Amino acid sequence: MTSSPPGQWPEKIIGKTRLILELGDLTKSHAQAVVNAANPSLLGGAGVDGAIHREGGPAILKECRALVARIGRLQPGRAVITTGGRLPAENVIHTVGPIWRGGDKREADILTSAYRESLTLADDMALQSIAFPSISTGAYGYPLVPAAELALQTVKQYLEGETGLSSVTFVLFSREVFDVYQGVLGKL
Ligand code: ADP
Repeated sequence: MTSSPPGQWPEKIIGKTRLILELGDLTKSHAQAVVNAANPSLLGGAGVDGAIHREGGPAILKECRALVARIGRLQPGRAVITTGGRLPAENVIHTVGPIWRGGDKREADILTSAYRESLTLADDMALQSIAFPSISTGAYGYPLVPAAELALQTVKQYLEGETGLSSVTFVLFSREVFDVYQGVLGKL
């Protein structure tokens, strides 16, 4: 995997917030919160979810179990926050994106909500930085280009409103995904 020195990543300033794209591993992010593309059970899974629990250790799972005991399974489009355990990030925001079922099952609404709820939760907790993966574009099968357009458009709209966030970073795990997001950011 290639990487660039800090300051070399593509970014745009929206309102008072930097919107940054990086190629890399979300579990290495030093954002105050990293967002987990979780599933409703909050018990961990494959992809970025597995990596977060593996690197973050058992403290995250313990809080997830307690949350599910209190509120039940996490509905798609909703978000909750736990400790970051051993991750460099202090917090993990767990959200559930839509499973792609052809596009007419409210997938876009649910994905928009997953991003918006995560951003709102970060602001509610007075966090200044948050880092996202490309939600739903792995195991959940959302087509990459529309997912990237929706992700960046949703974050842009959010940042045009009231927010205390100083940075929102997308940490993208493969060159293919990074290139698509970079193309979309250029047209934002
Ligand atoms: P979903 O179930 O929401 O589709 P996945 O974890 O399967 O979630 O995939 C979402 C995106 O996260 C994919 O682009 C995948 O390549 C990426 N990904 C997997 N591991 C990591 C990681 N450690 N850091 C950042 N992104 C990751």
